[in-house]
Amino acid sequence: MSERKRILTGIRPTGALHLGHYAGALENWIRLQKEYDCHFLIADYQVSDYADNLERVRESVWEVALDWLAVGLDPEESCFVIESLVPEHAELTTWLSWFLPLGMLQRNPTLKSEMADFGKKSVPVAFFTYPVMQVGNILMPRANVVPVGEDQLPHIEMTRELARRFNRQFKEVFPEPEGLVGRVPRLVGLDGQAKMSKSLNNTIQLKDDSDTVAQKVRGMFTDPTRLRATDPGHVEGNPVFMYHDAFNPNVDEVNDLKERYLHGQVGDVEVKQKLTTALNNLLDPFRERRSYYETHLDEVRDALESGTARARVVARETMELVRDAMGINYLNDPPRGADRATPNS
Ligand code: ATP
Ligand code: MG
Repeated sequence: MSERKRILTGIRPTGALHLGHYAGALENWIRLQKEYDCHFLIADYQVSDYADNLERVRESVWEVALDWLAVGLDPEESCFVIESLVPEHAELTTWLSWFLPLGMLQRNPTLKSEMADFGKKSVPVAFFTYPVMQVGNILMPRANVVPVGEDQLPHIEMTRELARRFNRQFKEVFPEPEGLVGRVPRLVGLDGQAKMSKSLNNTIQLKDDSDTVAQKVRGMFTDPTRLRATDPGHVEGNPVFMYHDAFNPNVDEVNDLKERYLHGQVGDVEVKQKLTTALNNLLDPFRERRSYYETHLDEVRDALESGTARARVVARETMELVRDAMGINYLNDPPRGADRATPNS
């Protein structure tokens, strides 16, 4: 297992997973899990924006694990890791934050826009510094590849920079990881907002039943300029067609719908019904596996417990390397030349 190159990637426990996670990230995870030694992280240190709703976090840790199993991630092959149960993540973050200039964090575009979402509410310090922790998450297993959605790329760039700084100043400890963006870099929300996101309530969840999917698709934002089915419509920038492109494997059907839509020969109802069918076909096998695990929660627990334990072994190894490289293994390193140098020996 340790021969394989490593992947580290993660998700915040802030809700059940959605189609954006699937197309932006999970598809790659599933594809790569045999080829790489994968660490999939439930990043519960990084939800300071949910500090007043820890109940949601607690539930979401399980929801995320269930969704991972539902889409076919294999906990024997890969580690499912609960971040705060590997407290070395907090430790590494502390050391790394020594080497990260404040300006780099202030300029991070993803962080900037997420902080703007707080509006008038105050931003916790831990939210401002969460990207540093993400750097620590990636460096901890000395990961080579990080499959993520496009919004996470600035954090990976920061990771590469910090790895270079650390290696240059001390010793080559960390590989410079590559980001790997999924087939759909950033899936728009049902409401047409730039990103489908757990926190924005504009999602189709992987666990939604078929009626819920139908209802959500019926309510989806479409071409606002089109009043009647006979009006020529816009396909470009229309979320319904973006979802067809992303999730309907029947390319001929999609092309035919686009053609007719452009010429005012098809109504939104038909376009949306066909999308609903495509989505339900995608989600059916996930629902089936999920319902098995919902009645076998002991297996979910085992997956979390054993993955976290395996990741912790790697984390301890890394922290030894870090301490050695930085020359801060104080107790192994008494002052030179003095008789009093080795206490207890
Ligand atoms: P939150 O709103 O709580 O931040 P989120 O929906 O953004 O939740 P995260 O846990 O932050 O989800 O992201 C997990 C992974 O899924 C990241 O790699 C992220 O880039 C990817 N991802 C999330 N939403 C999308 C999306 N709409 N399109 C593509 N990738 C996405
Ligand atoms: Mg997010």
